[in-house]
Amino acid sequence: MLNISTTMNPNPAAKPDPQKELGFGRSFTDHMFLMDYTRGRGWHDARIVPFANLSLSPATMVFHYAQAMFEGMKAYRAPDGRTLLFRPHMNARRMKDTCGRLCIPEIPEDDFVQAVSELVRLEKDWVPEREGCSLYIRPFVIATDSVLGVAASKTYLFCIILSPSGSYYAGGLNPVSIWIEEGYVRAVRGGIGFTKAGGNYACSLAAQERAHAAGCAQVLWLDGVERRYIEEVGAMNIFFLLDGRLATPSLDCGSILAGVTRDSVLQLCREWGIPAEERRISIDELVDGSKSGKLTEAFGAGTAAVISPVGEMRYQGQSLRVGDGGIGPLSQRLFRGLTDIQFGRAPDPRGWTLAV
Ligand SMILES: *Cc1c(COP(=O)(O)O)cnc(C)c1O
Repeated sequence: MLNISTTMNPNPAAKPDPQKELGFGRSFTDHMFLMDYTRGRGWHDARIVPFANLSLSPATMVFHYAQAMFEGMKAYRAPDGRTLLFRPHMNARRMKDTCGRLCIPEIPEDDFVQAVSELVRLEKDWVPEREGCSLYIRPFVIATDSVLGVAASKTYLFCIILSPSGSYYAGGLNPVSIWIEEGYVRAVRGGIGFTKAGGNYACSLAAQERAHAAGCAQVLWLDGVERRYIEEVGAMNIFFLLDGRLATPSLDCGSILAGVTRDSVLQLCREWGIPAEERRISIDELVDGSKSGKLTEAFGAGTAAVISPVGEMRYQGQSLRVGDGGIGPLSQRLFRGLTDIQFGRAPDPRGWTLAV
């Protein structure tokens, strides 16, 4: 159990206008959570304080060697007024895995969930009520030693900030085109692909710019060795419905992020009696499936969009159509099913939500 002190913000900001589009990640609530780590002392000084700039030496390690990680989750407003988190222990576990790989000291899972819960409870009036909107939660850790030698830092800062965010689909579910990247790769076996390390996103930007220039919304990554097997999309895991069977790349190479949404999609489909496999999926299989018509649906799955239907994939200058290019019935059903649980509109027999 953390002992969290609270300093209230003497100048709270006005809440965003509920009539206006919120967008994503541009405004922040009145408070943030901070906790320090010092080697020999462990994590200490857990505190909620007014949201403010951080003051750091230009020599701070994180600026040079990217010893940094983050998490991403949301708080949802239920119709009965409760504020819900969705499977927060999965984020806590993933954070531990990421920290382990980056030589960042672990934060105990219960402490992580407690810190998120207490901050969100304090800021609960910032959770938007409007359909599809939520309070985005961004926990992160940075290395704070101000020394230029390359080594694991001896001090760290754990911070959580909150941002009211709009519906990903202001105009309803919308199928996107995705760019299958043949040149750049995101992750390799033995690397940090399975972590939410900041560096993974820096190295994805060049391909993302290519994708955008080609009119595609997202990059679909291939494996780092043969560039033949499907990995994942920008910040989403990817699923394909091939001949009535759902398939997603397996996690065993350590190059793919284990999404909370991915795990939830697999569980729901298995409960619904839809065969759902975690396996290797080659690009050739998708090209064939698109041509034969066996590839009837494809969608990304992640906290931001929940389910993002893919209507078309661009590969080697060709356009691979997915089904009829629209929103498939399974994508629609999963979107509805998951958001009904997250927003507390449906019963929660799996205990996936946590009211704070
Ligand atoms: C965050 C993320 C996901 C999705 O994870 P969720 O827990 O479902 O939000 C998938 N892939 C990458 C690369 C990510 O950063």
